[in-house]
Amino acid sequence: MTDRSYGFDTLQIHAGARPDPATGARQTPIYQNTAYVFRDAEHAAALFNLQELGYIYSRLLNPTVAVLSERVATLEGGVGAVACASGHAAQVMALFPLMAPGCNFVASTRLYGGSINQFNHSFKHFGWEVRFVDFENLAALETAIDDKTRAVFCESIANPGGYVTDLAAVSAIAKKAGLPLIVDNTSATPYLCRPFEHGADLVVHSTTKYLCGNATSMGGMVVDKGTFDWSASGKFPALSEPNASYHGLKFHETFGHLAFTFFGIAVTLRDLGMCQAPMNAFQTLLGIETLSLRMEKHCANALKVAQFLEAHPAVAFVTYAGLPSSPYHARVKTYCPKGASAIFTFGLKGGYAAGVKLVDSVELFSHLANLGDSRSLIIHSASTTHRQLTPEQQRAAGAGPEVVRLSIGIEDADDLIADLDRALAATAGAVAAE
Ligand code: PLP
Repeated sequence: MTDRSYGFDTLQIHAGARPDPATGARQTPIYQNTAYVFRDAEHAAALFNLQELGYIYSRLLNPTVAVLSERVATLEGGVGAVACASGHAAQVMALFPLMAPGCNFVASTRLYGGSINQFNHSFKHFGWEVRFVDFENLAALETAIDDKTRAVFCESIANPGGYVTDLAAVSAIAKKAGLPLIVDNTSATPYLCRPFEHGADLVVHSTTKYLCGNATSMGGMVVDKGTFDWSASGKFPALSEPNASYHGLKFHETFGHLAFTFFGIAVTLRDLGMCQAPMNAFQTLLGIETLSLRMEKHCANALKVAQFLEAHPAVAFVTYAGLPSSPYHARVKTYCPKGASAIFTFGLKGGYAAGVKLVDSVELFSHLANLGDSRSLIIHSASTTHRQLTPEQQRAAGAGPEVVRLSIGIEDADDLIADLDRALAATAGAVAAE
């Protein structure tokens, strides 16, 4: 079912799913299965030539995973999506068709710390260069782009800092340079932000977070809007030129607006192999059924907790973009009018020591490295997720030594506030005793 006239709440339950053709089962079955029987030799040849679509081997396509891909593509308003094993795998999948050794992409400094590491260090092994720029400085973004640049990358609501990217302004620069804008929409989800409506060409997700919502299953997704012209500039030969592994087939010429999606399945998953497990896709489909309900509660709780922290004497600042005091509050209205999600940071007047004491003092919050769970989570970024970064990179990513990140869950807001209140009191004592 892909009727876009249905509302979000309907699509999050139905998009991509249909009663199982073999049994009539109404819930999407877990096709825990590796390979699929060909009707005959002709059928097999047609599948391998990409002349007919169908299931060959679950590294490429699996029926449960395909339902998840179609559901996320529909919720984002894209033409197609490819699921993969994790959010980090999705970032590789998004860039692999675009990049080549010696090419670069320009990325925002305000990214999840793991993405900064992946881009800065591991991508070097592919000969890919990342150029980090503060996307508040649009002139610097424009200057960083050269004839070897192949993409522009940012997060809609950045993890961890409560920063909202001016997607329209960034997209205008990418478009002027003839480059695709890739937006990581993990923190916002398609319920809060729809990057394609603001100029994005590709959306990536860690479905591990809010889309799954129950912290059971790793997963990633790359969604294509389907409107970027991969043949116009000659910069994307993987999509526009003959592919030797498919007898000279040209993906863009052959598959049109589905070229990126088909390349993702037929080449990237086939050769890099980062496929998603059917069980994980099933868990994520269950999670997505309640996405809008959960995001409403996440946002309402986050606002209450942020307001409490902003008024607390031990707290130096709160970055929640849903607060009127946030410099990005106006952008929330433009880009995520239903709410500013539920991940934000706050600074402790007691610095690094207070941050460490706080995470050791909470009871209801879980001290761990994740976000987007129905449970409330806390982490001191500088001693954990952002530990490998230089102090300058930590500050640029909004994760300085005094900074604590919260991912607010869907429990009772009053209980969360009481837990933080108790832990903050313990922090004050510890700092004073030093
Ligand atoms: N993007 C964002 C915004 C994230 O927060 C994360 C993980 O925290 C990732 C990507 C990577 O996702 P995964 O852990 O599923 O590989």
